[in-house]
Amino acid sequence: MSKTLILQVAVPKPLYSHFDYLPPVGFKNHLLQPGMRLRVPFGKKTVYVGMLLKVVAHSTVPVEKLKAVKEVIDSSPILSEENLDLLQWASQYYHHPIGEVITTALPTLLNKGHSAELPFLRGWKLTGAAGIPAKNAHQQRAVLSLLEQYPEGLSQIAITHHLSDNITATLRTLEKKGWITHQLISDTPKVEPFLPQSPLLLNVTQNQIFRQVCAQRQQFYPCLLDGVTGSGKTEIYLQIIQKVLDENRQALVLIPEINLTPQMIDRFKQRFAVPIGVWHHKITPRERLQTWLSAREGVTPIVIGTRSAVWVPLARPGIFIVDEEHDPSYKQQDHFRYSARDIAVVRAHRAQVPILLGSATPSLDSLYNARQQRYQHFVLPERAGTAIHPTFHLVDMRNQSDKRLSLPLKKAISQRLSAHQQVLLFINRRGYAPILMCYQCGWVAFCQHCDARLTYHESNKHLYCHHCGESRPVDIHCPQCQHPKLFLLGQGTERVEEELQQAFSQARILRIDSDSTRRKYAMTQILENIHKGEVDILVGTQMLAKGHHFPKVTLVGVINIDGGLYGTDFRDTERMGQLLVQVAGRAGRADEPGEVLIQTYHPDNPLLIRLIRKGYAAFADVALKERKAADFPPYSRLALLRAEAIELELAMDFLNKAKLQMPHCDGVQSWGPVSAPMERRDKWYRTQLLLQSEQRELLHRLLSQWLPLLPPLAGHKVRWSLDVDPQNLY
Ligand code: ADP
Ligand code: ZN
Ligand code: ZN
Repeated sequence: MSKTLILQVAVPKPLYSHFDYLPPVGFKNHLLQPGMRLRVPFGKKTVYVGMLLKVVAHSTVPVEKLKAVKEVIDSSPILSEENLDLLQWASQYYHHPIGEVITTALPTLLNKGHSAELPFLRGWKLTGAAGIPAKNAHQQRAVLSLLEQYPEGLSQIAITHHLSDNITATLRTLEKKGWITHQLISDTPKVEPFLPQSPLLLNVTQNQIFRQVCAQRQQFYPCLLDGVTGSGKTEIYLQIIQKVLDENRQALVLIPEINLTPQMIDRFKQRFAVPIGVWHHKITPRERLQTWLSAREGVTPIVIGTRSAVWVPLARPGIFIVDEEHDPSYKQQDHFRYSARDIAVVRAHRAQVPILLGSATPSLDSLYNARQQRYQHFVLPERAGTAIHPTFHLVDMRNQSDKRLSLPLKKAISQRLSAHQQVLLFINRRGYAPILMCYQCGWVAFCQHCDARLTYHESNKHLYCHHCGESRPVDIHCPQCQHPKLFLLGQGTERVEEELQQAFSQARILRIDSDSTRRKYAMTQILENIHKGEVDILVGTQMLAKGHHFPKVTLVGVINIDGGLYGTDFRDTERMGQLLVQVAGRAGRADEPGEVLIQTYHPDNPLLIRLIRKGYAAFADVALKERKAADFPPYSRLALLRAEAIELELAMDFLNKAKLQMPHCDGVQSWGPVSAPMERRDKWYRTQLLLQSEQRELLHRLLSQWLPLLPPLAGHKVRWSLDVDPQNLY
């Protein structure tokens, strides 16, 4: 009797374990390898695309109860052993179902069972050892002379197109003779034939970093590149990547924000005449597949992308780079809550290559790692160009009569306008006003579904909830006391825009927030207008704070910083510091010194003062001390169990039961359950239970034992999720 093989398969469902299947009837079992996709029956009717994790001899389920795989999709594994292992590691680390980890990591088309071949990209080129074909071998001659014109090779599709014949057999003959050879051809992304820009001459610090990283390029070498905006970090990336390419290895570059992508990609395209794989949410599923496959084949030497690009497999990894490593967008906030930055570090470690984490405002986590000497800390103190650092001023709003645009800010704006320079005003709220209120009875417009006030938007005179999307026309009378006048309190981008227009009627003002940039390419258009100097004053949300270069901006105004000073989350202070430095970094890039005015009701806040007088590093010192005193990360490890239900009791009940089931462990504390800071959102009540430990191993051991106990406790009315290393506690 032949031995039964059991296939352990990850199914794309939120299930904590794999499922066992039998091989398809009549299949040559020795062809089955982990990393292949299989179509598997699930439940009564469903068929899923699953991933073969392991082939074993035994199952915990009696063999006669196992179903057979319906179809083996791939003829060879689409995920290498290393890739598969990484995903399994991630599943364990984040305590997230392996099936969902895999679907997150694969392009959608592969999840749907699409072919993982690169059919359009298979091509051919001359080996250089060509002999002379027989006289009557017309096709062979035709192929050879065609390929002679394409020394880089030509895709099979293109060859067929040129010769309009079925030439597959001919190609094979030529290959057998050793005259031509397989070559993967990248059709997209296209490489423009141009002369690449030459690298800049590195300054002393840049050069030191460059040489040190290059010297360590055959091993894991995690580096924090801590340098203000414009200090030349990107130039260092580019030159190190060149070194990596010279060795025929690949680079993976992560960037945080979609709006940033075109600029960054352009800069890479200007430097390297090689195919660059691009990965972000605006490219089509087909393009994603292309990027993924060609990176895996090693055809694309450089891959640049946002968060989920961290899963793109590389044939020959040479370097990982995470730009703006502090950016919260690297952490996925739903389903599989991974941190792309942390995964990149793990990948670099596994591949034994360097990783560069770049930022003008490094996360406290990374700074801590640098201090612990887990990361090499490189500081780039000065801007590479000639520009000097902006100067900061605090405007004490307590003694300003205009509570929105203070006198000093208005004065500074007029000065810049008459000097034909640009101004950037930053306000962390879109819409017109965040509060609609009745002075008569105290009524305030709240969302029916969330614990949140509605924001008034002037553009269509509606009230919006920024949390659930609910909107309605604004009431004229107070719905509570029928008083005929309601007041709008506070300000958002639209209101600042209006007030500026009143104060500076001649100025060309442009508002930038997610409302004004919703259309595709709107942001590109806006950036172009700014660079052409067709705008005098920019008003925008944090969209403006990230990465964009505005060389003509010499004044940055921060309308209100106070939310960040006294926020509810333990990371609020860190984020406030980062945001201020990043916004300030937009100013005075060229030869004009920049100035930053910050409006605040708390001009004596010690952290704020430290930040503007001594800079981010000094600020981070104090912020780290506060974390240490509170025993928050990076001095401890957190995991947050969240639960939501339409009824508050159900969510609380679940967490209470969960807490009762929690294995005891000295060294792991649990806090709660409590309501989330925003207790209700989109009709769901939200609760949470926080786990904290100074030792990661203890916490993870507890989680591994505890999580399998939870699903039966939840019932179908409670949604719950676990967030390992949460970025925020709401
Ligand atoms: P960052 O990534 O830190 O913001 P960049 O690498 O983008 O810094 O550099 C900022 C500006 O300075 C760019 O315009 C870049 O071309 C220029 N630059 C960078 N390094 C040098 C150098 N060694 N010499 C001259 N200019 C440089
Ligand atoms: Zn009223
Ligand atoms: Zn709402």
